[in-house]
Amino acid sequence: MRRFCSPPLFTALKLLALSDEVVPFIYSGQIKARFNDVDLVIACGDLPYYYLEFVVSMLDVPLVYVHGNHDHRKQRMSNDRIATHAEGCVNIDGKVGTFKGLNIAGLGGSIRYRPDGVHQYTESQMWRRILRQTPQLIGQRLLSKPLDIFATHSPPFGIHDGDDRAHTGFRSFLKYLDLFQPKLMIHGHVHLYREKKQPVTQYNQTTIINIYPYRLISYSPHTGQFA
Ligand SMILES: [Zn+2]
Repeated sequence: MRRFCSPPLFTALKLLALSDEVVPFIYSGQIKARFNDVDLVIACGDLPYYYLEFVVSMLDVPLVYVHGNHDHRKQRMSNDRIATHAEGCVNIDGKVGTFKGLNIAGLGGSIRYRPDGVHQYTESQMWRRILRQTPQLIGQRLLSKPLDIFATHSPPFGIHDGDDRAHTGFRSFLKYLDLFQPKLMIHGHVHLYREKKQPVTQYNQTTIINIYPYRLISYSPHTGQFA
């Protein structure tokens, strides 16, 4: 995976998190003025590649992303290019990487609610994806480099999730939080205008935020806190 330089010590990092919906003022020339001090962009799924490519080209900072249940494997771009990934961005779905000095793990997709659905997983399938990340996450903990951010599309079961099958969260994510104790978990998938849910929940050491459709988050290396 690509690695990016760490920020100077004690300088606050600004993260722009995106999910689920193309926000008109972000997909416009206003993005530079509104987010000129953003250091890193994290996209939590259900977003077209053209939007991610626009954001990364305008802000010129690392952009990492996971997939949502509505993301097609191939997307036709305006120049007729068939895209299998977002150019200039880093797909961290199912992976762990270090960006701007932060350890980030990504697990996209939603609970399986259609047998042929793309980026949909049963709990057993999600467990298999978690197990593939486990050696790297354990290795980092042994090196005193704990997980900073867990970026997903779906919420955990019982936290910010919905009552219908498609918006039910993963029980395996609760175990993930117990095992790896990330400081921050960000997700989308549950649209807050439909669901009258709190966007922020504290779960043990982890602050969980539904970032739909975007959210600015700052991180202080001095305190190790996200806000
Ligand atoms: Zn979704």
